[in-house]
Amino acid sequence: MEVVYLNGQFLPKDQALISPDDRGFLFGDSVYEVARWYGGYFFDLPGHTGRFRRSMKETNMVWKDEAKLEEIFEELIERNGLGADCAIVYFQATRGVAPRNHAFPDPPVKPTIYGFARRHNINTLAAERGVAIWLTPDPRWNRCDIKTTALIANVLPYQEAHDQGFAEVCFVRNGFVTEGAHSNIFFVRNEALYTHPENNDILSGITRKNIISVARANDVSVVEEAVATDMIPYMNEAFICNTTGEIVPVTRISDQVIGDGNPGHLTRKLQVLLREFIQSCDPHR
Ligand code: PLP
Repeated sequence: MEVVYLNGQFLPKDQALISPDDRGFLFGDSVYEVARWYGGYFFDLPGHTGRFRRSMKETNMVWKDEAKLEEIFEELIERNGLGADCAIVYFQATRGVAPRNHAFPDPPVKPTIYGFARRHNINTLAAERGVAIWLTPDPRWNRCDIKTTALIANVLPYQEAHDQGFAEVCFVRNGFVTEGAHSNIFFVRNEALYTHPENNDILSGITRKNIISVARANDVSVVEEAVATDMIPYMNEAFICNTTGEIVPVTRISDQVIGDGNPGHLTRKLQVLLREFIQSCDPHR
C-alpha cells in the first residue's frame, strides 16, 4: 500500500482523510510542487523546495514545520521502497479547513499538508521522436509564477489539445508564446536559444533554469525574450521541458512544421548535456 504524508504523519493512502471543508477542495486555495528522484538522489531539490516556499509566501500560507520539507521528501521515497527507482514526489499545501468563506480563516488555521511519491519513468519515445503541440490563447490569471493547484485553465485547453492528438498545449498572450500547460518552451534560431523571461506570465521552471545554465556553460547563447507567434515559421527548432519529461523536442506547432520536422541538433545536444548534468549531481558517483 502506498504510504503518503498528511499533516505530520506517514500513513497508508486509504487512511488519509481530508475534510470537504478544506480550502484546497472548495477554492483551489492551494500550492504544490513536483520533484524528481533519480534512483538515489533528487535533482535540484533546493530549486523545488525553494519554489514551494516562495509559492506559500506569495499566497500568505504559513506552515510551522516548513524546515522539515526536504526530510519529508526523502522519507516519502524511503517509505515507499522507491530508493533505487526513478520516481517523483508530489507535495501540496492548502490554506486549511474552515467553513466556506472567501476571507482567510480568522484566526488562521493550520494548512493541510499532503505528499506522495510514485514511480515515474521518462517518456523515451517522445524524447526521441519529438511531439506536436497546439497553440491557443492563454486563458490563465496573471500570477502564473505561483505553482497553484487551481489548474482548470490549464486542464481545459490541455484536454482540447489531447483530444486532437497533440502532446501539449502552449499559450499565447499579447501575440507572444508564454509556456505550456505543464512545461516551459524554448525556440532555437541561428544557434541561439529563445525563451520567455521569468515574470508573472510563466512558472519559473526548474528544468528551464537548469537548461539555461547548462547551455551558457557550454557557450550556447540564451536570450530570455518571448517569441512572437508570427516568428514561429522562422524558428529552426523548438522544445518543451519540465521535471517529469526533461527536454522533449517539438516538431510541429499547430499546423506549422518546425525546421525539417525532426528534432533539431541543438535540442539533441541539450538533451545530452542536461542528462550529463543531472548525472553529475549524483552524490554516490
Ligand atoms: N510551466 C507550468 C505551467 C508547469 O506546470 C510546469 C511544470 O509542471 C512547468 C512550467 C515546468 O516546471 P518544472 O521544470 O519546474 O517542472
